[in-house]
Amino acid sequence: MRKKIVAGNWKMNMDLSSGIELAKGVKEYFAGKTPKAEIVLCTPFIHLSVMKDVLKDSNIKFGAQNCYSEPSGAFTGEISCSMIKSTGAEYVIIGHSERRTLFKEDNKMLNKKVRMALSTGLKVIYCCGEILKEREQGIHFDVVKEQLTEGLFNLTEDEFKNVVIAYEPVWAIGTGLNATPEQAQEMQSFIRKLIAEKYGKGISENTTILYGGSCKASNAAELFSMPDVDGGLIGGASLKKEEFCAIVEAVK
Ligand code: PEP
Repeated sequence: MRKKIVAGNWKMNMDLSSGIELAKGVKEYFAGKTPKAEIVLCTPFIHLSVMKDVLKDSNIKFGAQNCYSEPSGAFTGEISCSMIKSTGAEYVIIGHSERRTLFKEDNKMLNKKVRMALSTGLKVIYCCGEILKEREQGIHFDVVKEQLTEGLFNLTEDEFKNVVIAYEPVWAIGTGLNATPEQAQEMQSFIRKLIAEKYGKGISENTTILYGGSCKASNAAELFSMPDVDGGLIGGASLKKEEFCAIVEAVK
């Protein structure tokens, strides 16, 4: 059985104390409960060094939203994978559409980041997804295929086992307009087929593929009921404790 995951992407939100309060709130909500999904909080860098302590005595994992591709050195303002790992973080999001668009990160750069993260012992949540124009032109499958091929498909099988994929149609991120469960399923089964072609059926069946894009408590259950949707990457709704916890509980 592949792992189900609900990961919160806080983006550039939450100062130190409000982030601690939110993480504690999620931890308290699930104390004594056994959610069906692994919970991952992907926080801004400033929270990482306190999260281990805040989340101790819980099964909640945490991670970063970005990393740099080089191990150390004169890269003013960047954060390395080993720095992230040293906080106790287990995950890093790589290739979020905001990084691709606003910070001009291309598949080649993202592939370097992915390989650095994996070689440091982090698990990668690799984001892919088309913009609206690409869907309208009917090239969304090609776009996602290229993002996966160039960003991931030079990994070894062992490396690939530590990759989670998040399909996030860019037109659905932060817009309130989620993909329909059928649209998510159609793309996510396509992604699983590509993984099977590259790494074999065993690995593809064990790969967790998340949906992200305006996922909230009111639509999560329907999205997560799809056979190739193994949970969600949650932006805006991860900033509200009740909403985020309800999304986690929508995983059956
Ligand atoms: C995201 O940023 O990864 C995301 C899915 O955002 P939202 O849930 O706000 O659409």
